[in-house]
Amino acid sequence: MTAKIDGKINSNQFQELIGAIKKYCQLNETELELIKKAFTFSQEAHRGQKRKSGEPYFNHAFQTALKISQWQLDLATAAAALLHDVVEDTDISLERIKKEFGDEIAFLVDGVTKISRIKYRGNQAQIETLKKMILAMSEDIRVVFIKLADRLHNLKTLNALAPNKQKRIALETNEIYSPLAYRLGMSNLAGELDDLAFPYLHPTESKWLKENVKEKFQERERYLENVKKIIGTELEKNKIKPIRIDTRAKRYASLYKKILRYDMDLSQVYDLVAVRIIVQTVEECYAVLGFIHKLWPPLPGRIKDYIALPKPNGYRSIHTTVICEENKPTEFQIRTLEMHEENENGIAAYWFYSQAKQSKNYLKAKTIFADRKELNWIEQLKNWQNKFDSQDDFLQSLKIDFFKDRIFTITPKGEVFDLPAGSTPIDFAYAVHTEIGNHCVGARVNDKIVNLDQILQSGDIVEILTQKTRRPSESWIRFIKTDRAKKKIRNKLRQDDPFKRERLAEIKILAEDKINLIKNISDIIAQTKTNIKEIHSNPNGHFAQIKIKINFDNKEKTEKILIKLKNIKVIKEISYRLI
Ligand code: MN
Repeated sequence: MTAKIDGKINSNQFQELIGAIKKYCQLNETELELIKKAFTFSQEAHRGQKRKSGEPYFNHAFQTALKISQWQLDLATAAAALLHDVVEDTDISLERIKKEFGDEIAFLVDGVTKISRIKYRGNQAQIETLKKMILAMSEDIRVVFIKLADRLHNLKTLNALAPNKQKRIALETNEIYSPLAYRLGMSNLAGELDDLAFPYLHPTESKWLKENVKEKFQERERYLENVKKIIGTELEKNKIKPIRIDTRAKRYASLYKKILRYDMDLSQVYDLVAVRIIVQTVEECYAVLGFIHKLWPPLPGRIKDYIALPKPNGYRSIHTTVICEENKPTEFQIRTLEMHEENENGIAAYWFYSQAKQSKNYLKAKTIFADRKELNWIEQLKNWQNKFDSQDDFLQSLKIDFFKDRIFTITPKGEVFDLPAGSTPIDFAYAVHTEIGNHCVGARVNDKIVNLDQILQSGDIVEILTQKTRRPSESWIRFIKTDRAKKKIRNKLRQDDPFKRERLAEIKILAEDKINLIKNISDIIAQTKTNIKEIHSNPNGHFAQIKIKINFDNKEKTEKILIKLKNIKVIKEISYRLI
């Protein structure tokens, strides 16, 4: 295939994408060419491929890139989003991407390919590790953005997949990707992901909710129109001009969580629909709160000032529930536009802002974000790993290096193990299970057989080959990294050692020296199928001291031999020891 820009380009989609980018970024000729080249390259690469839904595969790449553009990320990210499945799903190599588009875009594409290998299979204990792993392996937060945009579109087309796949992807979204989006402050996306996953995870409840809530929604919308008018007039009277007043329907997924707490009683949920007032300044937020409380009495305990005390992910807003018109409890949310943008788009919003500062090319008019040194979510990320080197340089801080001394490795089934950097397949084997370590004979990393001392990298898929008869080797201790593996190997060696050398017992007998004594003794021992290694007799007067070395199999067997020998009348004393 060629990357040449030809007439086959889907011009509607292309115009839509360019339009989305131009909303926040003036494209020069070179930049326009880059997007066009990525667009055409991806379209050509995926030509003939269809999604399970029947639509051309390229639609998925396009939708992912469109979302990236709507989040106002940079052009390299948009181009990488167009190309994100090319390496994984076509025969085009990463090298080729590098040659055509340069290191940065190739790096982003590679990052998405790598984290797409991580699969969650319902092991609750792995959730935190997986989230960390996704961040660590991404190395650059832009990779996470692409993955989230990719996941969003995949969820929108999930109904085309087989039920078991639907369930797995919905669960993974719910447990991993939506919390990750939330953690990055992208609560709008997190809510959307949860909502899309919800019917696949709780089909019955979802159906019930949609049927029962629908009417309530309409009823509430009518009611809220009235409330909107009243508060609008009040604010106008007091010379506050809100940027806008929205009514917001609660998402099904979060509504479900909520009504579970109220025994499925919808009437108990006050914020089925909330009123959201967006104003210019923080002062106005508090002023608006005052006017609302002047009109309607607040419900005690329902005033939440997330401006003074933001949520850990950086969410800022004032919430209050009041006894409103017709005595109905109603929730209001008050915030500035800046807070609103950050609440909706989180790290992406901030990313855009930092870009705008760096590049003249980004439209200054959109820099609505305050010049705060850091956002709370960065603080949060810092606390999360408390290793975050570059406080000053924000772009640098987007490079995810706070896990740099850990690597994340995956079993062929997608289970994740995080290990210290420098770990080998042996460390991995012992992390999976002691028995796997003890019987390890070889390893396949990313489908290639490797030496056991190979240093593993984050994202490696590691398969350990075992053999029942295999024992750990002392030499492993020299190159492995984890103390756990070293300890296990030493234990095993110690435990196995006696079996490696032959274990012998020495039986000492004092007996009257009679003819056939030695023969009698050796017959008895032979009956127990025990090997005699050596017999040594030392006559002394009419007594003899006899030493017999036999194979020691176990204590019981040896003691049985002793009991039998004691039946020989001439034996006066008998004992044994291990040698
Ligand atoms: Mn994809």
